[in-house]
Amino acid sequence: MQDRFIKQISLLPADLANELVPLLNQQFSGHLDAQQVATLLQKTGLTKAELMFQLLNIAKALALAPISHFYVGAIAEGNSGDIYMGANIELPGRALCHSVHAEQHAISHAWLSGESGIRDIWINATPCGHCRQFMNELVDGGKINIHLPDTKAQTLQHYLPNGFGPKDLGILQPLMQKQQHELYCEDHNDPLIIEALDHASLSYSPYSHNHSAVVLEMADGRTYSGRYAENAAFNPSMMPMQMAIASLVRHNQSFADIKRALLVESSVGELSLIDVSSDALLSVSAVPLEHIVAEPV
Ligand SMILES: [Zn+2]
Repeated sequence: MQDRFIKQISLLPADLANELVPLLNQQFSGHLDAQQVATLLQKTGLTKAELMFQLLNIAKALALAPISHFYVGAIAEGNSGDIYMGANIELPGRALCHSVHAEQHAISHAWLSGESGIRDIWINATPCGHCRQFMNELVDGGKINIHLPDTKAQTLQHYLPNGFGPKDLGILQPLMQKQQHELYCEDHNDPLIIEALDHASLSYSPYSHNHSAVVLEMADGRTYSGRYAENAAFNPSMMPMQMAIASLVRHNQSFADIKRALLVESSVGELSLIDVSSDALLSVSAVPLEHIVAEPV
């Protein structure tokens, strides 16, 4: 079991802890498939709500909180029934605007894993205004059920009445709906560029058209990606570098092992993420940010 879970697992009921220990192996990065969740429910006799609130103890252990020392866990259930954990990520020594909130982390985890929507989300602290706005960008966002400890589950619409969202700006294909913005780059042979182009083509940037993605390559060859996820209210947008860094942390990797960092963005975007991406990267690695501007196909 990974060290970061040792204290948290001691907080769980013994039968749940016994079932979870084999799952929290070195590869565990906060994903349980629908069958694993069903097995945990069956073996422990817990209700779904009881299980999820217990599992938030594990999700919290995925946090990186050197500034707040406040650990938030979130679990998003995708349309497939799989669950995706996330936690708050604060970049050491960098502006607070670089932070990733637990809800953003869990939802981006589901999105990167191919989910097309979120049905329910469990959180151990009430969602801030930023996260309510971020979730309002999702497919059927208003219908997402928000579960908090000791509180009756309510929809996002309850927590964000009269919300401003993508429809108000004429966007009818919201976040997590399949995006396809093919991009082209002359250097076809670099696998890192190919991976970044794939993610950029799936990114969500209906406001700036800056279809973009970041890929971080580690010394062992593993890669962690992030896609740009814009928001109708602009500021709650999630940057691709932050999404990639959150993924790296979730996979229990060390920043010292980052070997390459690449940002790919579309030539037709109305802005560039190079400066904000470089600044975020600098907080965790001295590796220079490679930058590719790709053309739409
Ligand atoms: Zn938040």
